[in-house]
Amino acid sequence: MQFLSLIARNRLAAAGGIVLVIVIALALISPLLPLPDPDVTDTANRFLLPGAEGHLLGTDHLGRDLAARLMDGTRLSLAVGFAAAFFAAFFGAAIGIIAGYFGGRTDNLIMRAVDMLMAFPYILLALAIVAALGPGLVNALIAVAAVNIPFFARNIRGVTVGLANKEFVDAARLAGLGHTRIILTEILPNVIPVIVIAMSTTIGWMILETAGLSFLGLGSQPPQADLGSMLGEARGALITNPHTSIVPGAMILVIVMGINLLGDGVRDALDPRLRSGALTRPMAATQVRRKGPVPASEDAEAVLELQGLQTQFHVKDRIYKAVGGVSIKVAPGECLGVIGESGSGKSVTALSVMGLVASPPGVITGGAARYKGEDLVGAPYDHLRRLRGDRVAYIFQDPLATLHPLYKVGDQLAEAILVHHKVGKAEARRRAVDLLKQVRIPNAQSRADSYPHEMSGGMRQRVGIAMALANDPDVIIADEPTTALDVTVQAQILSLLNDLRRERGLAIVFITHDFGVVAQLCDRVAVMYAGRIVETGPTEAVLDAPAHPYTARLIACVPELGGGRRRLEAIPGLPPAVDRLEPGCAFAPRCLKAQDACRQGEIPLEGPGAREVRCLYPETELKSEGVA
Ligand code: ADP
Ligand code: MG
Repeated sequence: MQFLSLIARNRLAAAGGIVLVIVIALALISPLLPLPDPDVTDTANRFLLPGAEGHLLGTDHLGRDLAARLMDGTRLSLAVGFAAAFFAAFFGAAIGIIAGYFGGRTDNLIMRAVDMLMAFPYILLALAIVAALGPGLVNALIAVAAVNIPFFARNIRGVTVGLANKEFVDAARLAGLGHTRIILTEILPNVIPVIVIAMSTTIGWMILETAGLSFLGLGSQPPQADLGSMLGEARGALITNPHTSIVPGAMILVIVMGINLLGDGVRDALDPRLRSGALTRPMAATQVRRKGPVPASEDAEAVLELQGLQTQFHVKDRIYKAVGGVSIKVAPGECLGVIGESGSGKSVTALSVMGLVASPPGVITGGAARYKGEDLVGAPYDHLRRLRGDRVAYIFQDPLATLHPLYKVGDQLAEAILVHHKVGKAEARRRAVDLLKQVRIPNAQSRADSYPHEMSGGMRQRVGIAMALANDPDVIIADEPTTALDVTVQAQILSLLNDLRRERGLAIVFITHDFGVVAQLCDRVAVMYAGRIVETGPTEAVLDAPAHPYTARLIACVPELGGGRRRLEAIPGLPPAVDRLEPGCAFAPRCLKAQDACRQGEIPLEGPGAREVRCLYPETELKSEGVA
């Protein structure tokens, strides 16, 4: 189970859990152990020290065996603490959910009552409740549970308010579900993690509170003892016979420490924001486990050259071959389009170049990624870090997600420069404004002081491009930079990139799923399917006469302006799952022309000159005219 393995990875939480399990196990089996009766007094043997014959931990002021009383008291304290936490969580959550779900006046009434409870000092309120109910362990339990209800109610109400207006709850209402059903099936499953987290971090506190009440004589009554009342009884002999206080005191310390450490671990493991990988601590660079030999560089001119690059995700016993041997190259001033359906491995290919695929689970298992002839796969992290964003820069799809929301864009640009260059603040700022001008942002000087949320989508993507340009890189890898933008802004961004590569000799790898974009910007195109390149060649040649059936059908999917008579051909079926790739052509199951031969063996990517196709029955015979 992922939850358990997350806890186990957190060493402190695991230690707390183990200590707690040992204590609980000891408390549970103690009636079976050969311990003396905890309540039998023996005044002749008062205050025996630990290690005395027959009394492992010594005896107390009435000569009762401390080990036996400790086990008894531990059992009682744990039971009361857990019961109190359970009741507080149950009633607190119920109140919180009702207040948060119904809102309005119900919410107001309930929460003001809860606020009133919270206005009293904690322990004073508990004392008042016990005073009203009379001393006794059960009443102490009720008091501790009651004073903790407001804490749960407030927490859960906050979460519920957020959930109650979510679309899935509206959808449930529209489907005609009643309030009870909605609360039980839509709301409750979403707040349970919060309840568990709140519980795990408060049980320790509740055990302490119960012990406090017992210490004052308001909890367990003699001769029955919990840890708190043991401490209370030992108080008189604190100086003369400290061991009678130390034994229960140490146990309380161990229990509360154990619970709190474990509770923190549970919180981290259950928190949905942390679960999505924040705790798995990806390495600084993608893990490399290359089996085959490293291919030698073939093209001295290419500024970026991938050779048979393989990147996999190892998730438990499954292997996802996201990139299965990709070879591409770009020369200075050239733009290569990488196109393919969503999930075909474009992003993973791009991220593998600079070792940016998260590990675990990502592993580069073969091939090479050369920048100016030098292989970056497995290069030392420091070296990669120096190249990242300096020589090879990335532009991502969603600039709102990649820009820091709390810093001005000018400062973020300046930071990108300062990371790689020793220049003064003022100089970095001047360059930042300059960059904003280069990406044609009007009023660059004042725009540098804008926050990302104050800009439009197209403007933000320009900032993203400016950031990629900040250190005058040789290669820009743009991963669907215009997918989130509308067509007019997209056209502006494309022409901007086009100008930049002509002015500066930038090499661009442009990832997209849109053939229209490729046609506008790219010199060459590589078509990806299921982690491999199935066709590559000069853009025009590929667009005019696609050779791979997949390319042909992708092109047929592009709507044409004014060409309303042509039928749009959707490709039936879905791309294959990359953890179960069949031998032969990965596209065969969706291909109209597939033969038996297509489902066997390895089909090579071959062709004359610059055009290559991975198909046994291509749509057009490739002729050698395409030789570059
Ligand atoms: P795209 O071409 O849309 O950019 P990606 O490169 O993001 O596609 O993904 C390629 C494949 O890798 C997909 O099949 C995806 O399911 C798989 N993949 C991506 N990240 C992970 C991951 N962390 N664990 C397992 N599989 C992954
Ligand atoms: Mg992608």
